[in-house]
Amino acid sequence: MVVGEMAEPVQVLVVGGGPGGYTAAARAAELGKDVVLIERQRLGGVCLNVGCIPSKVLTTAAHDITRAASGAERGLHADIKLDFGALQAWKASVVDRLVGGVGQVLSKVRVVEGTAYFLDANRVSVENDDQVSHFRFEHAIIATGSEPLQLPDLPVDQKRIVDSTGALAFDEVPENLAVVGGGYIGTELGMAYAKLGARVTLVEATEGILTGFDADLAKTVADHAKAIGIDVRTSTFAKVLDGDDLVVMGPEGEGRVPADKVLVAVGRRPLVGELQLEDLGIKLTASGHIAVDEQCRTNVANIFAIGDVIEGPALAHKASAEGRVAAEVICGLPSAFDSVVPLIAFTDPEVAAVGLTEAEAKAEGRTVLVGRNKFSTSGRAIILGEETGLVKVVIDAETDVVLGFHIAGPNASDLIGEATVAVETACRAEDLAATVHPHPTLVESLHEAVLAALRRAKR
Ligand code: FAD
Repeated sequence: MVVGEMAEPVQVLVVGGGPGGYTAAARAAELGKDVVLIERQRLGGVCLNVGCIPSKVLTTAAHDITRAASGAERGLHADIKLDFGALQAWKASVVDRLVGGVGQVLSKVRVVEGTAYFLDANRVSVENDDQVSHFRFEHAIIATGSEPLQLPDLPVDQKRIVDSTGALAFDEVPENLAVVGGGYIGTELGMAYAKLGARVTLVEATEGILTGFDADLAKTVADHAKAIGIDVRTSTFAKVLDGDDLVVMGPEGEGRVPADKVLVAVGRRPLVGELQLEDLGIKLTASGHIAVDEQCRTNVANIFAIGDVIEGPALAHKASAEGRVAAEVICGLPSAFDSVVPLIAFTDPEVAAVGLTEAEAKAEGRTVLVGRNKFSTSGRAIILGEETGLVKVVIDAETDVVLGFHIAGPNASDLIGEATVAVETACRAEDLAATVHPHPTLVESLHEAVLAALRRAKR
């Protein structure tokens, strides 16, 4: 900054317009603060533009195709043809609509386009092409998100080797898609493209896919991935491209998998490098995330950080919840982030989890009751023709408190809502058991799992 150059005063400055940043900005403005939000690309961040929303357009379309193709058993015959260009256009229209909605949410916030970096603990500089502006803030919230990790021998060019952003933007469904990484992003997109017609190989270095989930859930998805024709290769490392193939090293030595396109989905890292945080003395954790306390405050008292730049699951609903906390703390409210965060993968079947797994609860020294209910016993799941999967509930045997729910099955992403309320409110299993659940619905399976844990007769 040139000495003497004017910096515009602002009470709350938010860097990043993703779910974390726009929620924080809107909440601070709602609470009466003068707020500026800096975004260098497009409002909505990764989630709306190249993450949650566009990926779910593809997974939903893939699911619709599968359902239509399996309709004959239910007397439904449909001649479904995929127009991938039209699907991509629909995806863009969904994204545009939701990004427009963010603009409305931010009606009381001044949005400034540009890339921000910190000059000191009260000033940022914002660059937009050749123009530079400066702001002097009372409080700042860093919400700059994350970026995909790269593999040195498989550098992303967004042509043949793509990250998730490139995979969402294909012009056509690739004939042979090799997915490197069996986390939720790789598995979701791999399964979606398999159902849209690609021959997919899923290459995962560890022993199983979806390692963050309960092993029963992860196995359910892995088995179904194989059943729909995906070549799932675990304990296998992707090496380099050679001709038409991706060279891999697995338990049986070196192998080759067909790869017109390679999707590298090996994780994401916090996007903090350009902010010049080192000059401020802001502490990072060992994993490179910004260290914060339970109020999302960094070690520099007037600077907060939320979302993918801090530790915890890199998910949009966590980012927005933290955004509300940071804004409320800045406005003097007694907020803190101590909520459980549901995890979801929009795979087939969907998986969703909240709270402790059986293994985690036992590792904490708790005695647990575990109840299971398979969707193959659910009237609603049978009607839907989507019987794969199960619900698992983990209950503290001494206190009767529900510690965790783990669901693999149809609409798991919605079913986890009731489960999250139960775990967040430390609900007693007895209360869930006594709650009348509607019939015939998928949510009955949560009820049945609780009854099974309590060794009660099924309804
Ligand atoms: P982001 O959404 O990453 O937003 C950060 C913003 O900051 C960006 O817009 C960026 O342009 C801007 N920015 C960065 N640096 C600067 C700077 N110096 N100056 C100005 N602006 C800057 N999560 C879910 O909950 N459910 C899902 O189904 C889901 N699916 C996903 C699918 C994919 C393919 C991917 C990649 C992610 C998915 N996620 C999902 C994760 C979710 O997108 C992220 O957790 C969420 O977007 C994080 O929000 P955020 O606000 O922390 O950051």
